[in-house]
This record gives sequence, C-alpha cells and structure tokens, in this order.
Amino acid sequence: MKDVTFPDGITVPALGMGTWNLGDDDGRRKAEIQSIQLGLDAGLRVVDTAEMYGSGRSERLVGQAIAGRRDDVYLVSKVLPSNASRKGVHDACAASLKRLGTDRLDLYLLHWRGSVPLEETVAGFGDLMRAGMIRAWGVSNFDVDDMRELARVTSPEPCCANQILYSLDYRGVEHDLLAYDREARIVTMAYSPLGQGGELLRAPVLRRVAARHETALGPATPAQVALAWVLRQPGLLAIPKAGSPAHQRENIAAAALELTKADLAEIDDAIPPPRRKVSLAMI
Ligand code: NDP
Repeated sequence: MKDVTFPDGITVPALGMGTWNLGDDDGRRKAEIQSIQLGLDAGLRVVDTAEMYGSGRSERLVGQAIAGRRDDVYLVSKVLPSNASRKGVHDACAASLKRLGTDRLDLYLLHWRGSVPLEETVAGFGDLMRAGMIRAWGVSNFDVDDMRELARVTSPEPCCANQILYSLDYRGVEHDLLAYDREARIVTMAYSPLGQGGELLRAPVLRRVAARHETALGPATPAQVALAWVLRQPGLLAIPKAGSPAHQRENIAAAALELTKADLAEIDDAIPPPRRKVSLAMI
C-alpha cells in the first residue's frame, strides 16, 4: 500500500478510515467496532472522527475500538468552527480526548471556516501542541483562497493537512487545490471518496472498469474502482467509511488495485476533469 508523509515527518498508509455516522445505531455497533479493528489489524493507521459526528457518539465508538492499542492509531479529530476560539479549541479538544479515552490526538483539524479569525484558532492549536494534547494541526474544507490566507498566518508549527471532498462526483479540486496543497507540502485528505455509497457507485463506467480487474478478494467492485481512482493521486490520503468488516476488507483490497491508462481515459470520458476553476464543494 502507498504511504503518505505529513510535514512533521510522520508516515502513514494512504488509506485511512472515516467514522461519520458510526455509533449512531446500537444494532450496528459491534460490526462498526470490528470494522475499525480489522483495519488496524491489516495495518491501516488513520482513524478520522470529529466532535460533530453524532454529537460525540463517533468519538466514543472510536475510543472503544482503539482501547488498549492507541499506539497503532494515527488519530484525527476536528473542532467545530463555533468552538474555534483560543479557549474554545482547548475545551473542545479536552472533551474529544475524554470521549476517545486518550491523552493526545495525532492531528486536530478546524472542521470548516467560521467567524473566528484564523490567527486565533491557529494560536489555540499551538497552545494544544505545547500542552501535548495534539501532535499536529490542520484544516478542512479550505479552498485555495482560504489556504493562501492561512499561509499568511504566522505560526511556528505548520499546517499539516487539508481535509476536503474529493471523489469522482467532485473533481473540481483537480483544477488547482490538489496542486496547491502538494506544493505547500500539506497532505490532502480526501473525504467521501465513495460518494457516500450513493449514485456514484452505480455509474456504468465503474462497472465496466471493475469487470476488467481482480483483487485479492475476487472480481473488483465499482466501489473499489472509485476508491483506487482517488488513491491514484500522489501524496493523498483517502478516508472512506466502512461500517462493516466486509466493506473494510474490500476497501483494503482496493488500495492494491492499479488502474491502467485505458481505465483512467475511459473514466475521464464518462466523468470529465474540470476545465476551469470550480469552487470547493462541501458535504
Ligand atoms: P464515503 O464516501 O466514505 O461512503 C461511505 C458509504 O459507503 C457508507 O454508506 C458505506 O456503507 C459505503 N461503503 C463503504 N465501503 C464500501 C464498499 N467497499 N462497497 C460499497 N459500499 C461501501 O462517505 P463519508 O461521507 O462517510 O466519508 C468518509 C469519511 O470522511 C467520513 O466518515 C468522515 O470521517 C469524513 N468526512 C469529513 C467531512 C469534513 O467536512 N471534513 C465531511 C464528510 C465526511 P457501510 O457504512 O454500510 O459500510
């Protein structure tokens, strides 16, 4: 599996695990925990959560899934813009750590831009780093203009990641944002890479391409092609959410799926890349 290296030198596998909506349904809880644990057993490290997800339910479930194996995990959480003041980030982070049952996050992101000046949020992240509560900080849902503004904020600790919507449904960032992040040595984390399991996975082109490939689990699926397509971008980390061990296994197998030039051309034909600036979309 490909690796991704953050600006602070930490290297992780390019496939991580999303957790939005996990912990919302008691009937699925066991499978969701098994799914995360199976991912860690297979060598995945990044687990992405947020204080917003289920008002803390996702963080609590992640805490249960990683109990006793914290060092296996590169743990990411996010602060809501409404909590992004200097004191707010401290209190929100302390609450996230409690729900997660740990004393530190590997990466803490501003979930999206709100009304708090970036200088203040970044200063708050610096405080958290010095207190040992987080190892690195980053942002989410920042377009190129936001990233340029952020670059003008003075901070001894660099922004390590920008978590954005990127899938075959939303290719706009290929025009400029992916290159901006790469040149600034900021890791792009692609969220909703499977189009949230919706219409995208029924795209005929994905079925056609899948029919030409085998994975360790047998014939490739449209979801695996969609994920392999996102993972083809160098230096990018993808965080699909798999609520079951079966989906997690499929996603891990997709990380080894190499799309050919002919596959990529056929996909471009059906779902063309952007020809001009498209504003960053957000879910
Ligand atoms: P995804 O694109 O990851 O899709 C998840 C859906 O796909 C679920 O319904 C899941 O079903 C299904 N699925 C997973 N694996 C497979 C598979 N192999 N075959 C078929 N279906 C599959 O959407 P998300 O919106 O969850 O995005 C991923 C993560 O990104 C989130 O969980 C969250 O951590 C993060 N995120 C961040 C945002 C931000 O603003 N920063 C916004 C949105 C997401 P099942 O659950 O049954 O496995």
